[in-house]
Amino acid sequence: MSARVREEFARIHGPAPEGVWAAPGRVNLIGEHTDYNDGFALPMALPQTAVLAVRRRADGLLRLHSAQGDGRITELRVADLAPGAVSGWARYPAGVVWALRERGLPVGGADLHLDSTVPTGAGLSSSAALECVVAVAYEELYGLGLERPELARVAQYAENAFAGVPCGVMDQMASVCCAEGGALHLDSRSLEVRQVPFDLAGHGLRLLVLDTRVKHDLADGAYAALRAGCERAARLLGLPALRDLGEAELPGALGRLPAGLVPLVRHVVTENARVGRAVERLEAGEPKALGPVLTEGHASLRDDYGVSCPEADLAVEAAVAAGALGARMTGGGFGGSVIALVRAGEAARVTGAVADAFGSAGFRAPVALEAVPSAGARRLG
Ligand code: ADP
Ligand code: MG
Repeated sequence: MSARVREEFARIHGPAPEGVWAAPGRVNLIGEHTDYNDGFALPMALPQTAVLAVRRRADGLLRLHSAQGDGRITELRVADLAPGAVSGWARYPAGVVWALRERGLPVGGADLHLDSTVPTGAGLSSSAALECVVAVAYEELYGLGLERPELARVAQYAENAFAGVPCGVMDQMASVCCAEGGALHLDSRSLEVRQVPFDLAGHGLRLLVLDTRVKHDLADGAYAALRAGCERAARLLGLPALRDLGEAELPGALGRLPAGLVPLVRHVVTENARVGRAVERLEAGEPKALGPVLTEGHASLRDDYGVSCPEADLAVEAAVAAGALGARMTGGGFGGSVIALVRAGEAARVTGAVADAFGSAGFRAPVALEAVPSAGARRLG
């Protein structure tokens, strides 16, 4: 991949790149819609990555090309970058350069060529992979001295303030901090992370990813409304964030909230607790026991948080009926992908059962991938 991206860069931009970097997409095992509540999550990096070749320019121009784009180079002047000034895919990489400059860091223009294997709009964080690969490349080329969590914050700020998507920090933290063979226990308040072993193969397990091919759009207001609802609930309860409400205090707290906020708060609090349970089970060397936590998390997203969709519900139901140990939608919702934890020998049966159920329901055939806990962002060459 690295050699091909290098060659493509030279064909498109002229001279050879100064380096090639990769940043992965992710699936989140559990802990959905918790990051913007200062809570916990347990993502893992996918083998699919955004790969970027870069060469700095001295003339203040940013020239962006994507192998998945329309073939054209988007040319921007770094000094003119401002929120709302860039549209389309270029707003993610340009946003990172802008966000670094907003921090007062002396970064300038560059030629960039991107080639990503992360499916876009499938809830697997192709946007974070794209931001993070730009962030790590710039960090190294300019010797910025930023730690990984700071790079994740820069990438999140680019997506929030420049691209206009009000996402939390989990996707970016997963892309820069995950390690091969494990999941990442993330505290979204402190940005402290812990690597949790997740040896699927060693336990005869596989983690399937079923892309429902329903496109979500986190920028479409639903996500922002949920986020605002959580923030309002925390204010009404006199808490800095919903993270500060424990499961034991939940019944009392729910009685003090307007009815419309009750299911939101119940999801966030029980979801944070599910992350804790999932981590305990993985650290005890019992990844099979993750199954019920996944399925319970899906019910909470479907019934309390209201972010699932008929395709994701059907995929979960069909997977579990076909013998999956557990399944849930992953990512922000309103479409995207479902993960299913299966015994290795049952993967084909579960995938087939979900495809059959989609066929009977008249849904487009899902696309199946496999999630293998992979490395976070890194230099390739
Ligand atoms: P997700 O992050 O779940 O894949 P998003 O809607 O947040 O979905 O991000 C998808 C967007 O990211 C695409 O519409 C595109 O603008 C941008 N993007 C991701 N990967 C690429 C790529 N390889 N080339 C160009 N744009 C990309
Ligand atoms: Mg995204």
